[in-house]
Amino acid sequence: MIKLNEHYLKLSANYLFSEIAKRVRAFQEAHPEKEIIRLGIGDVTRALPKACIEAFHAAVDEMGEDATFKGYGPDYGYDFLREKIARDDYQSRGADIALDEIFISDGAKSDTANIQEIFAHDIKVAIPDPVYPVYIDTNVMAGRTGDPEDGRYQGIVYLEGTKANGFIPDLPGEPVDLIYLCFPNNPTGAVITREALKRWVDYARENKALIIYDAAYEAFLRDESLPHSIYEIEGATEVAIESRSFSKTAGFTGTRCAYTVVPKACTAFDSKGGRQSLHPLWSRRMSTKFNGVSYPVQRAAEAVYSREGKLQVRALTDAYMANAGLIRQAMNGLGFDCVGGINSPYIWVDCRMDSWEFFELLLTRAGVVTTPGAGFGRCGQGFIRISAFNKRENVEKAMARIQQTLGG
Ligand SMILES: *Cc1c(COP(=O)(O)O)cnc(C)c1O
Repeated sequence: MIKLNEHYLKLSANYLFSEIAKRVRAFQEAHPEKEIIRLGIGDVTRALPKACIEAFHAAVDEMGEDATFKGYGPDYGYDFLREKIARDDYQSRGADIALDEIFISDGAKSDTANIQEIFAHDIKVAIPDPVYPVYIDTNVMAGRTGDPEDGRYQGIVYLEGTKANGFIPDLPGEPVDLIYLCFPNNPTGAVITREALKRWVDYARENKALIIYDAAYEAFLRDESLPHSIYEIEGATEVAIESRSFSKTAGFTGTRCAYTVVPKACTAFDSKGGRQSLHPLWSRRMSTKFNGVSYPVQRAAEAVYSREGKLQVRALTDAYMANAGLIRQAMNGLGFDCVGGINSPYIWVDCRMDSWEFFELLLTRAGVVTTPGAGFGRCGQGFIRISAFNKRENVEKAMARIQQTLGG
């Protein structure tokens, strides 16, 4: 008899985006004349940078000639891309990361989802609340949790983000082994200072723990005092794995390219208490279960590091950041406290009422779609996330409508 992985049955159905879609559809059907502006989704809206498209096209042409055709690429990604990542994303910022510590993949989602399989089953996992749901759900699938109760899984240590701590969770009050952190944060837009990140790195070192650092929104950092990588913190190469993505950086959500850094110094413990390097495990995992990102996509990603590419990526992210500024200003002007929107494309608004109630109010009275914070965890209740990923004219129109609705 074929049996299923019953841990999947513990997963709470992902109500959030389907529920939003359902409510938006119902409203649109009842009011077909109303134009709805979507500031809910965490997906980019602007085209790929020109430098990426040119490199993409040229690489596609190479695939069309026997002389330049490429079959399976290297398991860990082409060196032409890994070399530029090591140089420009790490070494230039004083982070000691080498080319062969970088693993090119099809997404930070898959990497942050898959990484847990190189750790033991009985580790204690600490996950922020509110959170990008992938970290929790993949640990549920792997059987590291009990059943859900009141929206939380037994066995997980929840790291609470609140208004009081500025959505930078405090260190756990009990020993944990694996810690997920994401900065700039989705959904809250919060950023972490060097000092606060150092506390986490020190905690991991002292407690033989490991940090998964999701830096998918690194390209939106503007304040130069903030760390772009966890490896800018001394000692982090021994206790942290970092994932980044070209998705939000350069509009690759539909193109697919990301990478994960597993430093050779990074270790975990075997059952006898011996320290073992994680690099060979992740190498083995990638070569066994993954066959690489397509050659043209890696060439397109490489172009992000060219002179023109850097300018174009900056212009692309600047345009979203200008939207974020408009949103933050408008919401502050209406008297709402906000987090984010300064070094991140998300604005996390204290709506002073139930998340879904405020979502409904903005949808039905202003025709603007946002994301109810309660969908990202218990601590998200009372907040909504507004995304800066849209055209400027839509953002302006949306904010004008919200001002009209709530401005009195
Ligand atoms: C968008 C996003 C990613 C990127 O995922 P890809 O699979 O690379 O597109 C990763 N982490 C967070 C928190 C995100 O919001």
